Amino acid sequence: MKRILVTGGAGFVGSHLCERLLEEGNEVISMDNYFTGRKSKIVHLMDNPYFEIIRHDVTLPYFLEVDEIYNLACPASPVHYQHNPIKTVKTSVLGAINMLGLAKRIKAKILQASTSEVYGDPEIHPQPEDYWGHVNPIGIRSCYDEGKRCAESLFVNYHNSNDVLVKIVRIFNTYGPRMEPDDGRVVSNFIMQALQGKDITVFGDGTQTRSFQYVSDLVDGMIKMMATEDDFIGPINIGNPGEFTMLELAENIIELTGSKSRIIHLPLPSDDPMQRKPDISLAQEKLQDWEPRIDLRTGLSKTIEYFDDLLKEKSIKELM
Ligand code: NAD
Ligand code: UDP
Repeated sequence: MKRILVTGGAGFVGSHLCERLLEEGNEVISMDNYFTGRKSKIVHLMDNPYFEIIRHDVTLPYFLEVDEIYNLACPASPVHYQHNPIKTVKTSVLGAINMLGLAKRIKAKILQASTSEVYGDPEIHPQPEDYWGHVNPIGIRSCYDEGKRCAESLFVNYHNSNDVLVKIVRIFNTYGPRMEPDDGRVVSNFIMQALQGKDITVFGDGTQTRSFQYVSDLVDGMIKMMATEDDFIGPINIGNPGEFTMLELAENIIELTGSKSRIIHLPLPSDDPMQRKPDISLAQEKLQDWEPRIDLRTGLSKTIEYFDDLLKEKSIKELM
């Protein structure tokens, strides 16, 4: 049994990761400041004596003894990370410094949840790990993109200079149950709008693309990356190469929900990447038996069921 710390453990991805690590027989500690996370995402784990929660902000140091650290703490939705951009940079940079310092002191292995956003608005398609990216360092997304790029640099340098065992995964757009309904990301927005018969808000002309990965495929990939040989540190792309325009996504969601919502167009936010698709050859070579298993329509159906139940619970509560 390993003792594992998950920062951002009460977030969308973190809650699924904590659940899976517990199922695999580990002792798991979630550390979160509940900025975008919620206890309700992990409450079902709290009866498990091998699960602990700590309320703590990763921009401040913390000491505890664990074997592995998954560093996920950081808001991921543009709406949330742009809410307080300086805090977003601090979370990525100071959070990485504090967690790497801890890993060094206690000799733990540490994995960084980096992002496809390090590629910015990419000029190379699909994106392999050796592409350096095309990021606007002063744009509205830079607090997130540059924070994550600096965190990657810190991870590599703690490995090279201090022998810390590090792993870096670059995560592409991931969706699934336990996303926040008002989180602002496209999948949750479109599903909530479709289920409530509201207009579906496509930004720009909707021809921009993303490659959507179901959360269980990401969790598989992260755990397999942590288990790779010590001298392989990444970065490694984890995503589903199925690429869709935002209009195609909206149409799929309308069809799967049977919604009567209509599509409307709103202005495209600045620096919104026009295309994004992972080259996953490295992941397929290095991560044992890993491949994306859940296609978009299957994953969307599971996610729609989750949001549908959430809306039903809400309307029952309102009736009471
Ligand atoms: P999320 O916003 O649901 O989860 C982030 C969690 O971190 C939340 O529980 C939040 O409260 C916590 N947090 C934020 N700032 C903190 C701080 N200063 N101290 C302690 N906790 C803090 O987002 P998510 O989708 O679950 O993303 C998890 C990680 O994966 C993030 O690092 C994100 O950058 C990365 N990632 C996610 C995606 C995606 O599509 N979901 C894509 C690329 C990268
Ligand atoms: N988007 C959209 N309507 C929405 C929310 C997002 O058309 O209501 C678009 C957004 O402009 C972007 C894509 O969907 O082109 C993905 O946005 P998201 O915020 O989910 O992720 P990211 O841009 O960080 O990849």
